[in-house]
Amino acid sequence: MLKVIENIKLGVLLIDNKNTVILSNNYVSYIFDCNIEPGKSIIDGWENYKFLTLFDKFIKENFQKVEFEHKILKFNKILIENGYIIIIEDITKEESYQAMKMNFFSNASHELKTPITSIVGYAETLLLNNDIDKKDQNKFLKYIYQNALNLNDLINNILQLAEIEHFKQSSDVLSNVDILALLSELNINHLINSKNIEFIQECELSAIPFNKYHLKTILDNLLDNAFFYTKEGFIKLKCHNDNNYYIFEVQDSGIGIEKSQQEKIFERFYKIKSKGSGLGLAIVKHLVLIYNGSIELESTVGVGSLFRLKFPKKNE
Ligand code: ADP
Repeated sequence: MLKVIENIKLGVLLIDNKNTVILSNNYVSYIFDCNIEPGKSIIDGWENYKFLTLFDKFIKENFQKVEFEHKILKFNKILIENGYIIIIEDITKEESYQAMKMNFFSNASHELKTPITSIVGYAETLLLNNDIDKKDQNKFLKYIYQNALNLNDLINNILQLAEIEHFKQSSDVLSNVDILALLSELNINHLINSKNIEFIQECELSAIPFNKYHLKTILDNLLDNAFFYTKEGFIKLKCHNDNNYYIFEVQDSGIGIEKSQQEKIFERFYKIKSKGSGLGLAIVKHLVLIYNGSIELESTVGVGSLFRLKFPKKNE
């Protein structure tokens, strides 16, 4: 029993009626990075003043959750004959995951509301007014259609991000992806001739071990942005490798991104110009991390942006 208590991933403190520590396990030392010896008082037996204050407060207030030194700790007091047991759980990870989830849902519902409100508004106007002329009817139907498409994109992106976040390791889904074949399947191919932009493709890679769907998603998102934010000039896609890395670069001569925004654009739902869901780069970043890769951004406002992705070869 003592062995179990010693090695359990919960802090266990056995205290008598006079607040003297009878037993303190390894996890207590791990959480507080300091041990309390049996025989000392739970309130003033600690060498560190901060712990002493924490336990003094616990004895007086019997709180259940406390933020302490960047950790969130859950306390549970169990009364026993001649004393009590304090169980301490480090719930920092769970709490920050929970906060992240709440944040995601509130952002997602806010983003979903925008197109839905427009769809409902225009549909209501059409239903309640019989005298709208044909031209306006068509205009409103186009708004409804466009917002329905936006809604569809948003839902697809949210589902895609949720799916990607479940991927912890890339190794079970790797196959040799034929790069040239993949490039010919990218969504941007229809955009290449649509603007006065030169599309340059420099590809030195023939095949890399990857999940084809992941690589396509990454390049589609980066190139889609490059085309959207570039009016004229060029867009360059480069794939090459050195001794340690497979390297993909997407460069454009577009509007560029201010320094202060360059980290934020990888956050979920963050967008400077409201073209889409603000999830594209968050999806790219997640996918890159699955492959232990890294993403660098070099950008100058008015000159253009360069997104460089590096994937370690030792993933093979
Ligand atoms: P979305 O899915 O809405 O396109 P992203 O996550 O892909 O959103 O991009 C977030 C923001 O980053 C965009 O709103 C845009 O302002 C900025 N951005 C992304 N790529 C580029 C680029 N190539 N040039 C300029 N701005 C860009």
